[in-house]
Amino acid sequence: MSTTAPAQSHLASLEDLFRHFPDVPREVILKIELLSHGHWFTDAALAATQGSLVKSYRLFSYDLVSMDKLKRGEARQVPEWFYIFRGIYDLRAVAIQTTMDPTSPFIVDVSDGKLVLTLEGKILSDVSLPVRPDYYSKSFSNDVPYHEICAFGAFFTVFRQCQFWGPKEECRFCDINQNARQMKMSKDFTLNAPVKSIEQVREAGMEVSRNMLAKEGYQAPVSFIITGGTITNVLRGLEENEFYAEYVRALKDHGPRRHISLQTNAKTRDEIKWLHAQGMDGHHANMEVWDQRLFEWINPGKARRIGHAEWIKRMLDSVDILGEGNVRPNFVGGIEMAQPHGFATIKEALASTGEGLDVMMRNGVDPRFNQWRREPHSNIVQEHEQPPVPSEFYIRLMSKRYELWKKYALRLPVKTEFCETRRYIGVAHGTYDDFPLLFDAPWYQDAKARTPEEIVQLAAGWKVPRKVSIHGPEASLSQGERATGATVVV
Ligand code: SF4
Repeated sequence: MSTTAPAQSHLASLEDLFRHFPDVPREVILKIELLSHGHWFTDAALAATQGSLVKSYRLFSYDLVSMDKLKRGEARQVPEWFYIFRGIYDLRAVAIQTTMDPTSPFIVDVSDGKLVLTLEGKILSDVSLPVRPDYYSKSFSNDVPYHEICAFGAFFTVFRQCQFWGPKEECRFCDINQNARQMKMSKDFTLNAPVKSIEQVREAGMEVSRNMLAKEGYQAPVSFIITGGTITNVLRGLEENEFYAEYVRALKDHGPRRHISLQTNAKTRDEIKWLHAQGMDGHHANMEVWDQRLFEWINPGKARRIGHAEWIKRMLDSVDILGEGNVRPNFVGGIEMAQPHGFATIKEALASTGEGLDVMMRNGVDPRFNQWRREPHSNIVQEHEQPPVPSEFYIRLMSKRYELWKKYALRLPVKTEFCETRRYIGVAHGTYDDFPLLFDAPWYQDAKARTPEEIVQLAAGWKVPRKVSIHGPEASLSQGERATGATVVV
């Protein structure tokens, strides 16, 4: 089945997918399309982002366009993610990681004072944006905002470069080094040093815990993830494990009820035991692609340093030490169909990655699938034209993952996250959480719950409802601005 028949409008293709997969939630299908084809914000929608949780560009750019093409200051204005809900398909709220592309047919706009998602001019759904946490307005004495140290109360990219360098070593889909460069050139970001200060990381972690206490009224558990590039040699005189362990200790030891995950190359049993003793609770050895031939093509540095078979062995071994749910390697969903060496057919790609899913989930590894965003500065896009991966592949692969999730009786993906919506609404970068949540989570089964507020309220059972998202330009005005009659130009 083709999803991109040339004579067909994109709307007709989307509705074809709905018809072809009647048992797959429409929220998921539309989300897959939004992550594959990106989206754009009109001036009015961009103005309405005031007060939202700004996109961090924390690791990769996750845009289909380079930053120098963003002429309206978008990189410091668009939200990290947004929600789609209601509309002509009566959608339940799901989160979409913001993926900018000025040529996308999907446009976020404002209509009748509300944010909406349009496709070829037709309004598909309502849109809202995550509210900026209190700590986003704080800065350190050197003017670095706290949110450039810790994104959305969870994410610390402590080394924003990678010592895998150039096409013979860097993972081919990755734009970490180029993204750091474009952020510096834009002059819109305060923090350009590749290595984050341990003191600032520690203090940002403490501030997130203080915000959590203020929000919840008690010290609720919070999850932090530490990530960064590979250290093949030494950095600041430390080898990779020692370097990252300093940040693990800084976050673990200086606040209560913290779950610390670390993303690095795959580690041996002894290394995992040592990192666990330093305070690491979870480890994610991001494998990116399952097939051996493609692993060696896509991840040349990882293949040479560790190797395909050893990578898998280490991932499975680490479950024995860290326990189920604490080993969640990332995969770049769809990269197995990249040009020119990827699988030529959906069937072959599904057979390979489906086999990997079964091996991992049977052994207590919980793989994540971050949908491939085809960043323009990545090697794989520079070297070869990369058309969007057919949505049918993602629909079938994530359906398979859901089948295995049921078969192996895994738990609902509810998280101890700082942002309320990230606790109960699936991750924004892929649809792997959305399947179990939309099908099985009680808070998604209520026929009346559609907005992020309604869904999170049901899940959390708060006595007093809370505002978790911004629905339109009016909502982005602060109390003070409303009192003085200030307006947002739309
Ligand atoms: S290990 Fe690969 S994916 Fe990770 S930062 Fe380095 S090049 Fe990028």
